[in-house]
Amino acid sequence: MRIEDLISMAADARKNAYVPYSDFRVGAALLMDDGSVYTGCNVENASYGATNCAERTAIFKAVSEGHRKISAICIVGSKEGSFAFPCGICRQVISEFSDENTKIIVAKNEENYIVRSVAELLPDAFTPNDL
Ligand SMILES: [Zn+2]
Repeated sequence: MRIEDLISMAADARKNAYVPYSDFRVGAALLMDDGSVYTGCNVENASYGATNCAERTAIFKAVSEGHRKISAICIVGSKEGSFAFPCGICRQVISEFSDENTKIIVAKNEENYIVRSVAELLPDAFTPNDL
């Protein structure tokens, strides 16, 4: 799958964002190691703390369907001109289901994106190997 296609799917998923408080829409698209794709959006809550990010929405959908390894995850935010990098909690969750080959793609649009590894976004991560 082309990176541009994953970006397009993340941008589509962003349309479903439930963001009555921040109006900050985020979409994510996941490519799993078996070729399956899952998308997610951020879902806010009146309590604020119960809010879930787009990346975790997509990952939890995939894991709940039996998938475990992320080949690539793409995140598209809503602010023109800025990249929406994953928050700390999402970096930890991405790490749980990733390896050194997983691509984390943070995109403004299909022409403008950054690709990072998990180690770049979460160096010295706490992993299942640390238990
Ligand atoms: Zn997050």
